Amino acid sequence: SYRARSAFKLLELNEKFKIFKVGDIVLDVGAAPGSWCQVASQLVNTPENPKLGYILGIDLQTILPLEGVELLSQADITHRTTHIEIRKRLNDRKINVLMSDMAPNASGVHECDHERIIRLCRTVFNLTQGERPILPLAENGKFICKVFDGHHRADFIKELRANFTRVKSFKPNTSRDESTEFYVFCQK
Ligand code: SAM
Repeated sequence: SYRARSAFKLLELNEKFKIFKVGDIVLDVGAAPGSWCQVASQLVNTPENPKLGYILGIDLQTILPLEGVELLSQADITHRTTHIEIRKRLNDRKINVLMSDMAPNASGVHECDHERIIRLCRTVFNLTQGERPILPLAENGKFICKVFDGHHRADFIKELRANFTRVKSFKPNTSRDESTEFYVFCQK
């Protein structure tokens, strides 16, 4: 069984965009309690070879151990120490699937939460850019992130469009109706 209902959102995203392949290198930012890592592990590993793919889950919170998944708990994706640790774990491998289900601590003020989540998404996106990125995307590499709708949406999507060949917004059926959350799927 899954540690969170968000697993079903990732399964829907995978159904729509065919995200995962056996053997993929996956980075899950904002991974606690771990249901996205569980889904990824089922899709990139096989029962015969539970280490065929590689999954690294990162979170500010503690993530309890998961079969076939490497974890970086109590790590902030905005911190340099986390970047150093990620570089070490990736060991020059490129990322096939980079996903962020991160959410800021809810302030209750929608506009503020919107700005904060966009900032988190941009942090992850920026880490994929440059000469020697902390999060190097593989050829055809995918980037999936959670966003709350708001007035920075258009600018953010525009920025992604300039850097990926395919960019699609998607609201899973399993996402609560009243929530303004949606996911952006990007492919290099
Ligand atoms: N996808 C997860 C699952 O299915 O189990 C659920 C993720 S939960 C909605 C969002 C997570 O983002 C929280 O656990 C939170 O601690 C994490 N988060 C928020 N800001 C973060 C940051 N700066 N660095 C790392 N994780 C962060």
